[in-house]
Amino acid sequence: MDASTHTNSQTFIGKEARFGARNYAPVAVVVDHAKDCLVWDVEGREYIDMMSAYSAVSHGHLHPRLVAAAERQLRKVAVTSRAYYGTTLGPFLEKLCQLTGMPRALPMNTGAEAAETAIKCARRWGWKAKGIEDGRQEILVARGNFHGRTSTIISFSSEADYRAGFGPLATGFGHFDFGDMESVKAAAGPNTCAVFVEPIQGEAGVIVPPAGFFKELREWCTANNVLLIIDEVQAGLGRTGKWFAFEHEGIRPDGLVLGKALGGGLLPVSAFLAREDVMEVFSPGSHGSTFGGNALAAAVALEGLKVLEEEGLVARSAQMGEYLIAQLRDVQRASRGLIRDVRGRGLWVGVDVEPSLATARELVERLANAGVLSKETHETVIRFAPPLTITRELIDKAVAALRKVVVQKAAELGLPEHRTDTAQASA
Ligand code: PLP
Repeated sequence: MDASTHTNSQTFIGKEARFGARNYAPVAVVVDHAKDCLVWDVEGREYIDMMSAYSAVSHGHLHPRLVAAAERQLRKVAVTSRAYYGTTLGPFLEKLCQLTGMPRALPMNTGAEAAETAIKCARRWGWKAKGIEDGRQEILVARGNFHGRTSTIISFSSEADYRAGFGPLATGFGHFDFGDMESVKAAAGPNTCAVFVEPIQGEAGVIVPPAGFFKELREWCTANNVLLIIDEVQAGLGRTGKWFAFEHEGIRPDGLVLGKALGGGLLPVSAFLAREDVMEVFSPGSHGSTFGGNALAAAVALEGLKVLEEEGLVARSAQMGEYLIAQLRDVQRASRGLIRDVRGRGLWVGVDVEPSLATARELVERLANAGVLSKETHETVIRFAPPLTITRELIDKAVAALRKVVVQKAAELGLPEHRTDTAQASA
């Protein structure tokens, strides 16, 4: 039914609640339409999108060039499967390889599928190239990781709720503490074929590793003939102020996982990229996806990469991100201890709420009521990851709304003015 004939949010919320599985707990905003950084609900209320679908909408909602690319391709052909060649996949892969500096790419759809591809590739490389007995390959992952929701991926999650009751779980994973090289070394063994890691842990609460960790990890992986596979599903394509987060430490991974923004906010598009000799482990029939690299997805993704490049959105993310983080630290200083940390890189920021005073969810809901969309991760972190097209004016409006919410909550709690001692911003 068209939204215009049904303008009550509760109707739509009720239908999702009644007929949908209960695997999400959405904020009570029913999005009807959106344009760039703004979103409108079915009652016509306007919101600033400071979440951009967990970074999938980095280009802004319905970027006109992406919509035009989709429309052009929709008049030609959308899906052919990889049983045949097409006119859009090759150019998309070429552009992606140029931008990442990786020689080969394997297109999939969702982030989890690309992460699964990375896992399969690493294991097969461990067997074929490193001579590890098949079934004994081990991949090291970080505690607090998030790489998706498939049964293999949740097997190595350190989040009990993601795993409970979904056994039998996959084996062949060892854990290290994110950002701690000694912990990596302690977890490694002769069957270690890869380290699979996010450059910044997103779902864990936007955790930025100590400077130098990835450089050391790169050196250790090279010295020990272990693949370094970086999951930039959320961090990649400009989110952190560089094209790819690994560039912050001047390193190059052996394998790279991309998703989310790769689809330009229109379609699910992901990819696994790797070194020539690593990607070589896949032969016809050993891996694939019916929709992976379809003509429509490839047309949109190629245009999306061009938009990021031609509109200077990566530099913009660095610039606006710095501004956003500075503004949020200002709110932290005025929060009387309600906000205990602000951290991030580029347009990707976690605002850490003091758990004894409020939940992140409560503040996210108040912010939504004030016309700003954000999302909590775990109990304590409010995540801000607006489209890379965000303007300073919209950042100012969103931050002003957060300031109001925070100051009001602090007043309700009767927090004393002087509680700025805990409000020391972390680097
Ligand atoms: N990897 C990372 C780092 C992610 O943040 C996510 C999703 O948040 C995924 C993989 C999974 O992506 P998808 O939800 O598209 O399967």
